[in-house]
Amino acid sequence: MTDTTAEIDVDPIVLLSLSAARARQRLNEAPGLIAYVRTLVVPAGVQRSDGLPRSASKEALAPLRVDAVDEADNAYAQLLNWVGYWAEALHTAPPVTATYAWSNDREVQGFRAGVTPEGAGLLVKNLTVWLLTRQDKIERHEYAGGYFEDVAGIIWDLRKKFPRSGRGTRPVFPRPCPICDSPSMGIEWQSEQLTDFTLVCAYCGFEGNTAALLKDRDVRELMRDMRVEDAQEATSWWTKKQAVREMRITPQTLNRYIQHDGLRTHTADGSVYVNAGQLRELWRSKHSRGANVRRPSLTP
Ligand SMILES: [Zn+2]
Repeated sequence: MTDTTAEIDVDPIVLLSLSAARARQRLNEAPGLIAYVRTLVVPAGVQRSDGLPRSASKEALAPLRVDAVDEADNAYAQLLNWVGYWAEALHTAPPVTATYAWSNDREVQGFRAGVTPEGAGLLVKNLTVWLLTRQDKIERHEYAGGYFEDVAGIIWDLRKKFPRSGRGTRPVFPRPCPICDSPSMGIEWQSEQLTDFTLVCAYCGFEGNTAALLKDRDVRELMRDMRVEDAQEATSWWTKKQAVREMRITPQTLNRYIQHDGLRTHTADGSVYVNAGQLRELWRSKHSRGANVRRPSLTP
C-alpha cells in the first residue's frame, strides 16, 4: 500500500506539512527516548553515591552500553545546535537550559557528567518544548524543510539503535475512521522515507490508503489540523473483560463472536484471552458492510 506513493506528484506544501508533523512526533518522543537510552549506560545499582561507576559485581547485570553514552550525547548536542540556530534565526531568547549548557563552551558535545536518565530527559524536554512551541514560525522559514528532516532523522536513528517497546506518539487526523467513526486515524511511518507511511485506526485497526490520502484535495487542511497523541500499545491478547472495554461491545456480543464467528480463545492462569487482532478484524468485517465511501481519502 505504500509502494505507489513514490510515483505520485505531491504538492510540496503538503510534503512540508507532512514533514512538520513527523518532526513534531519525533520531538515529542525525544525526551523519553533519550532518558531511556541513558538508562542503558550504567546498569542500576552499579553507581555509587559519589557518582563514580565501580566495576560490576558477579551478579548478571545488563550489559553496559558504551555506545549509549555517545549516541544520547550526540542527539542532545544536535538538538542544542538547532535551538541555537532557531534562537538566532527567529531573534528569540533560547531556553535557560541551553544557555546553561553553553556557559563554558558553545560547542557542546553532550550532557554534563553525572546526569541521571530523568535529568537527561528533562533537559531534552526543555529543548523540545521550546522548539515545538516555535514550530509554526519555523515552518514559515526557508530552512524549515531541512530542519524537519534532520530532527526526524536524529530521533529515528536513535530509536533504531535502541528500540524499546511502546509506540510513543503519532500524528492523528482530524477526520474519523470510515469504519468505526472514531477520530483515531493516525500515521505510522514504516521507514525514514517521508511518504512511506500507513494510516491506521488505533481503535479498530482499519488501514487507510496512503496514496489516496496524498491525492486528496483537502489534504493541506488535514495536515495542518493534525494533532499528536499517544499511540496505544499494540497488545496481542486481551482478557475478555479488556476486550469488552477496548472494543466497546457487550459481553454477549463477545461471546457470540467466540461461539459463532470463530474468535479463538486462549486460557492462561485461569483467565480467558482473545486475540486482539482477530477481534478487530471480525469487528471491522461486521461494521464495514454498513460503511460507505463518504470519505474517499481514507478508504482503500
Ligand atoms: Zn476505526
